[in-house]
Amino acid sequence: MIRKNYNNLQRVMTMLAAFAIFAMPVAVFSQTKISYHSNKYKPTDDVKVGRQAAMEVEQKLPILNDAQITNYVSRVGMRLVAAIPPEFQHPEFQYYFKVVNASDINAFALPGGPMYVNRGMIQAARNEGEMAGVMAHELSHVALRHGTAQASKAQKYGLLAGILGIGGQIIGGPAGAAAQVAGQGVGVYFLKFSREYETEADLLGSQIMARAGYDPHDLANMFQTIERQGGGGGGGGGFMSDHPSPANRYARINQEAQYLRVVNPVRDTREFEQVQARLRGMGRAPSSAEIARSGQRYPNGETTGNYPNNPPRGTVGYPSTRYQNYSEFGGGLRVSVPSNWREIGGNNDVWFSPEGAYGQYQNQVVYTHGVNFGVVQSQSNNLQQATNEFLNSLGQGNGNLRQQSGYQRTTLSGRTALSMTLNNVNEATSQSEIITVVTTQLRNGQLFYMIAVAPSNDFNSFQSAFRNVLRSVQLND
Ligand SMILES: [Zn+2]
Repeated sequence: MIRKNYNNLQRVMTMLAAFAIFAMPVAVFSQTKISYHSNKYKPTDDVKVGRQAAMEVEQKLPILNDAQITNYVSRVGMRLVAAIPPEFQHPEFQYYFKVVNASDINAFALPGGPMYVNRGMIQAARNEGEMAGVMAHELSHVALRHGTAQASKAQKYGLLAGILGIGGQIIGGPAGAAAQVAGQGVGVYFLKFSREYETEADLLGSQIMARAGYDPHDLANMFQTIERQGGGGGGGGGFMSDHPSPANRYARINQEAQYLRVVNPVRDTREFEQVQARLRGMGRAPSSAEIARSGQRYPNGETTGNYPNNPPRGTVGYPSTRYQNYSEFGGGLRVSVPSNWREIGGNNDVWFSPEGAYGQYQNQVVYTHGVNFGVVQSQSNNLQQATNEFLNSLGQGNGNLRQQSGYQRTTLSGRTALSMTLNNVNEATSQSEIITVVTTQLRNGQLFYMIAVAPSNDFNSFQSAFRNVLRSVQLND
């Protein structure tokens, strides 16, 4: 249905365009005119540079090999590509879209067309319109040829070989390289984009969205989603660190959107919901920092991170009675955990787990023992309803998960919380395990959760550690 509406809309818009001169209000002509910066390179150079960069990127980053998700992202991407205004279309360019199995809220595009969308970005977006917003912004950098324009400006990198040299050096560098690629993408190649380029990408992105039948306000909304979820921080890995926010970014996009009225825009789609559910069922993605720390090369389609390449052994040491303090989520969470557990992750979701208790199994990171903290967006203001939603999302893609107890009221960081116990069969070890989930609400309405997991036959020796960890939780929101 949505697709059909969209097609109709396109037809209507085409008709409107034909009659624009007679029928459209003056405001239409107020959409911002954007032009190219001077560029020493030919569009085919963009393609060449981008292709080489893409090869290196795909060796360094874990590309998610999931046809359903990749096809969906590609369909959204190609709809946007088709909506690039004619003056910014380049027949040489070859646009394609891949999903990176990284938790950071980010996406990047390379000159000439390749685009990489982080899984964290798809999961953070509240609807298809927001996801499309970031993609339209990225496409605009490509269509406006910002990469080679910037290189043209930097005289010392005046040669194409020079550009490739920069890329090669940084990508081929030691630890941190993959994270830079994952987190900063094209910014690594061509330094950071200036705020001027950012504004242009926002404006052309808004125009592309409208032409594709999306609401350009969703681009502004996505920037707010990114900020709300902490993806905008200067800590690296986040979208905002690569795409510095021009002054009054939202206001500027929303102002442009006034001239880009879209009737019945595409916003929520069932496909988007299905893809998000599928991603939730996949186990957590590594952060770009973890990918960098691993310092390894990853062939296509393998999940990465600093996880052993093998499934968890499932046999681990007892929790230490000494505890170590951690601060997570930008200080929003303080917690003490046994000192022999390692901290893994840390963007919207962090694990503490002993050696031997985590590893890769079938393209996912699987944990046998440990605690996991995270924050999820919730549709409901009611704790029990929000918890139900969350448990349903955990259950999706995991047929073995069974609720064992009803909800019990408890407290977490001095606030009302719910606790419940579930049984599961661990995917990697086939051992039965006990999972305890504790949830509470943050002031902004998001759901905070702690998940503790241990095999059934180890549960008693881990239970007191889990209790201590739970008691130590301090939320500062
Ligand atoms: Zn940008």
